[in-house]
Amino acid sequence: MRYLLRRPSLTFLAAPAALALSLLAAPLAQAAPRHSPVPGGVAVVPLEGAAEQAPRASLGDSPLAVIRENGRWLALVGIPLDTLPGPLAINVETGGKRLSLNVAVQPKDYPVQRLTVKNPRHVNPAPEDEIRIEREQVIQDQIKHRFTSPPPATAFALPAKGPLSSRFGLRRFFNGEPRRPHAGLDVAVGTGAPVAAPADGVVVNTGNYFFNGNTVFVDHGQGLISAYMHLSRVTVKEGQRVAQGDSLGAVGATGRVTGPHLHWAVFLNGSAVDPELFLARP
Ligand SMILES: [Zn+2]
Repeated sequence: MRYLLRRPSLTFLAAPAALALSLLAAPLAQAAPRHSPVPGGVAVVPLEGAAEQAPRASLGDSPLAVIRENGRWLALVGIPLDTLPGPLAINVETGGKRLSLNVAVQPKDYPVQRLTVKNPRHVNPAPEDEIRIEREQVIQDQIKHRFTSPPPATAFALPAKGPLSSRFGLRRFFNGEPRRPHAGLDVAVGTGAPVAAPADGVVVNTGNYFFNGNTVFVDHGQGLISAYMHLSRVTVKEGQRVAQGDSLGAVGATGRVTGPHLHWAVFLNGSAVDPELFLARP
């Protein structure tokens, strides 16, 4: 896998000599996501620890990604959307010591969005749909909770070229009925538009799901998983390694949609988080 700096970095050029040296010495350059300690956000938590031995961190039973950037270890904590504001404890193991650190989760009010879909079964599924939905939920939950040890590829590029439409976290009503919040980011592009891997990873699942339509899941390492939904076409297979920019498929309107678009989801330690936090800052 290639690991890319977010962009030719001005801070790198301006960095003091010692920092520049430690960056040059690091075998992998990673770019941490933006620190946003809110429900559906990511907390970037500095950890003490010697350079040679990565600390370990977990939230409940879920291991957390730990990356090294600018000579520091950082735990990346995906904060579930239903987390209440207040302290959120993570467990850390570093240099033979165990400790607990608190992330101060701040409140965030996500706007309301009201949508109308044509297929009433996408709002109130039939009993046979419920069986399918439940089965698919189990499969997708397993994918979201994967954890592999290689350092994660955390510097993302937008997977499709187009305006961002529905943002992450919108509190949704379908045909007037409250449903789950929008746990991804929509890119408004037409059917057939290319969808590309935002970072290096491995395709871990392709499938057709009741709500999500044709979907591709990519594992970027250490519990960082991305998903591409409602596709018209899938051009990758399970187990396939992809590099940033490689084709995953094409935009479509499969599953529960109001029209063609790309729904891009990002999961960290099993929780859906805002994909925009992983994009290079303008
Ligand atoms: Zn969406």
